[in-house]
Amino acid sequence: MQTSKNIAIIGSGLVGSLLAIYLKRGGHKVTVFDRRPDIRNIKFSGRSINLAMSNRGWQALRKVDLEDDIKKLAIPLDKRAMHVVDQEQYYQKYGKQGEAIWSISRGLLNKRMIDLAEGAGAQFRFNEKVWDIDLPEATFYTGASEKGEWRAHAYDMVFGCDGAFSRVRHKMQRRSRFDYSQDFIDVGYKELTIPANPDGSHKLDKHSFHIWPRGKFMLIAMPNLDGSFTCTLFMPFEGEVSFEKLTTEQEAKVFFATYFPDVQDNIENLMGDFFNNPTSAMVTMKCYPWTYWDKVALVGDAAHAVVPFYGQGMNAGFEDIFVLQQLIEDHGDDWETIFSRYQEARKPNADAIAELSYRNFMEMSSKTADTDFLLQKKIERHFATKHPDKWIPAYSRVTFSERPYAEALALGDVQEGIMAEVMKMPNIDQIWDSETVETKILGLLETS
Ligand SMILES: Cc1cc2nc3c(=O)[nH]c(=O)nc-3n(C[C@H](O)[C@H](O)[C@H](O)COP(=O)(O)OP(=O)(O)OC[C@H]3O[C@@H](n4cnc5c(N)ncnc54)[C@H](O)[C@@H]3O)c2cc1C
Repeated sequence: MQTSKNIAIIGSGLVGSLLAIYLKRGGHKVTVFDRRPDIRNIKFSGRSINLAMSNRGWQALRKVDLEDDIKKLAIPLDKRAMHVVDQEQYYQKYGKQGEAIWSISRGLLNKRMIDLAEGAGAQFRFNEKVWDIDLPEATFYTGASEKGEWRAHAYDMVFGCDGAFSRVRHKMQRRSRFDYSQDFIDVGYKELTIPANPDGSHKLDKHSFHIWPRGKFMLIAMPNLDGSFTCTLFMPFEGEVSFEKLTTEQEAKVFFATYFPDVQDNIENLMGDFFNNPTSAMVTMKCYPWTYWDKVALVGDAAHAVVPFYGQGMNAGFEDIFVLQQLIEDHGDDWETIFSRYQEARKPNADAIAELSYRNFMEMSSKTADTDFLLQKKIERHFATKHPDKWIPAYSRVTFSERPYAEALALGDVQEGIMAEVMKMPNIDQIWDSETVETKILGLLETS
């Protein structure tokens, strides 16, 4: 057990509240500050999207015995349900038997995590917006407005879990040799809802992640416990088919009737929600270092925000905490070593999941209609089914494993190299499931 410290966490999101549980159980005094009101008392809690929890997230929850508790809020999805134009709906299994991602409402999860952190003894102070921080003193300032009066709060140590636009990181950015980059993609997203049937059952298969891929845009749907589905429409902000082109009800109606005729009638209040719900942006944010002496550390989106196309942002943030805890167990009161090892261990993996997430976005947006790409995926699936010990798809390495993201990226690149060779084989579109192709892949695997 470490010497007890007086610790502040900025941000009561998913990462801040889980970190509060870990630190509280480690014997520290923990106070969590958040600029928003207590989400447990308001009907709508921030972005109402649901999230996919996978192995890394569960691992971090298991360590503090919360896996079973949180699984009660989640629905396992073991496959994708593909809704392709002019084809019957078909399914793609995610992984091996028993492997699934879990759909969970962000709002419900966050409320439960705050309850659990409070139950563990952490204190929460809502409606406290942090404006500035004195890094060497671990002292930060809250107040009603940037120009108004501020109150100082001094702690032994501060964790910045204040998300992609972190105020704590903002102060670090002003230091010399602090690396920082931020890249918005040209695609936005909007949420819509498919309500439950009158008897409370789901309108679509509830154990599937539903995708309506349409080239440069797509609709996805994930189930909620109450029988509804949260849908997300991902689409370019500008361009031929884009949010900017849908300015009237007539245009939006034609859009849904053209591209989503099978699902449009299931979406509740389609026109109202389409025009009232915000169109949100997505960003990749990278920075380094993540810590300041033994005083301040960034965790979760504050340190690394990724685009959501691998469903790993929260999982990566939870994994940060898991790794931090291992270092705490190894290094006791030596917080300087804990912090430096933490950032060294996590940074390459955060960069890797950022890259993987971005590539998945590129894949989904530009390659889903590419026949060579589809053929390559078909060959990979065929080979992986025959040789599951020799070919683990990148998706499984990221989602159903706790091995480092950087390893998943590196091994994925090796597989890509092999497939580039395979795709050059004459008549590959005709011999794709032949023994010749199988032997070629086995040979390339031996020499890679
Ligand atoms: C569309 C979409 C889909 C996603 N899907 C998935 C998925 O399927 N799986 C997955 O793992 N991840 C997913 N993510 C990513 C995931 O939502 C984030 O990685 C995760 O929420 C990060 O948690 P966090 O606690 O670090 O930050 P946040 O959730 O952003 O929480 C930050 C907290 O800090 C508070 N705060 C901010 N500034 C201040 C301040 N100045 N003072 C005080 N408080 C402050 C905020 O009020 C908030 O409560 C998705 C993201 C998006 C946008």
